[in-house]
Amino acid sequence: MSQIEPSNAFAALGLEPAIVMALNELHFVEPSEIQRLMIPPALTGVDVIGQARTGTGKTAAFGLPILQRLDLAHPLQALIVTPTRELAIQVEAEMVRFARHKAARMIVVYGGQKIQHQTKLLERNPHIVVGTPGRILDLNQRGSLPLANMKFVVFDEVDRMFDIGFRDDVRKILALCKGPRQTIFVSATINDDIERMVQQHMINPQRIFTAKADESLTNPEAVQYVVGVQPWDKLRALRLLIQQEQPTLAIIFCRTKRSVDKVSHGLRERGINASAIHGDLLQNQRERVMRGFRTGKINVLVATDLASRGIDVHEISHVINYDVPEDPEAYVHRVGRTARMGATGKAFTFVSLGQAQLQTEIEKMINHLLEEYRIPGFTPSMEPSKRPGAMPHGATDSLSSPQHAAADTSAAPSAAAQADGYAPTSFTSAESAAARRPITGRFPTRRRR
Ligand code: AMP
Repeated sequence: MSQIEPSNAFAALGLEPAIVMALNELHFVEPSEIQRLMIPPALTGVDVIGQARTGTGKTAAFGLPILQRLDLAHPLQALIVTPTRELAIQVEAEMVRFARHKAARMIVVYGGQKIQHQTKLLERNPHIVVGTPGRILDLNQRGSLPLANMKFVVFDEVDRMFDIGFRDDVRKILALCKGPRQTIFVSATINDDIERMVQQHMINPQRIFTAKADESLTNPEAVQYVVGVQPWDKLRALRLLIQQEQPTLAIIFCRTKRSVDKVSHGLRERGINASAIHGDLLQNQRERVMRGFRTGKINVLVATDLASRGIDVHEISHVINYDVPEDPEAYVHRVGRTARMGATGKAFTFVSLGQAQLQTEIEKMINHLLEEYRIPGFTPSMEPSKRPGAMPHGATDSLSSPQHAAADTSAAPSAAAQADGYAPTSFTSAESAAARRPITGRFPTRRRR
């Protein structure tokens, strides 16, 4: 009896044997939704806009068709632009894995590394260049990276690119890629801004949506909680939460670099294996921290939003928004770091007085009410300036504006007042009772339909 070959779901999408073989070796068995929907049209060469949640396999969705359609006789054919260095490094690494049975050459270019080194790499005539916008333009201006003959141009995480101010660079890069080309945009969210860019720079694009309007935009596998906690209590609450949850790997998101440094220091003080990552670190320091996190030497990464993209580490069990994101799209990206590719995860968002509106915006965006979570055994403490013996206008001025209270939370209490045994007041004062409703999210939320 003849043996029946198991059907290969990737071959059925139109992918060639050299790529299918690599995917088999990488143990990719089933295409993810974005791969199933995006690979066939992308293989025909049409422009594509793909909306996909983070961690859903979008790199393969745009990368495999490009790999297949490259003409290996010509260098500098594909440009993949990412908003952050980390994502650029990751995308290139992933493409190298996919290309193991092809003779395609690729390099990654990004700021913070010697430009001469990257110029040398470009002299080797790679087929694919992955990079961040600023460095791509810099290399182009120096004449090392001509863009006019690029046949494939991908902008990954376009929404994020716009968020962090790369809109003009995106426009410039698209204008420089003037030859006939296939343009692919990938984004977790598609807003009017992106639509305008699409209209100007794409030809009859095929639209692929994987996050349906009535579905949560974040990974459904991530359980999402909101924790009502005042700014001066946040570090204490965080330590307790980490001790109770015992995350395998956790990312704590803060709004500012200063807050990142303080929180990571405050965790290490209590023996929690935490490291900070933000834009002020040198590139090699960032890479060292990321390596430590990937290999599990560091359990807790404390990061700014800049680091929220491109962290592709599978076992992230917890995402904690120490500072509630001011932009609801940032929430989607932060929470997208956990529960990747079918794994489970938990997301906790700390919300203080006066931040109810930010919570509402998030809930509208994800079309889901965040579940309230009370940290067992956690007792809120009195505002430091109101404690007996406190100076009338104490060192807690950062708390006077609740909207911005999140910016510098760990700085508020003195070490003594911060001690976990400080006699607490629960939220029972008139002020707190009035404020409780907004904190906990029990208010009508307009649902997006
Ligand atoms: P991405 O969204 O491209 O960052 O991919 C997330 C992770 O999922 C990466 O580590 C990929 O290697 C992995 N991955 C992507 N597609 C598949 C698949 N079809 N099967 C198994 N793993 C995948």
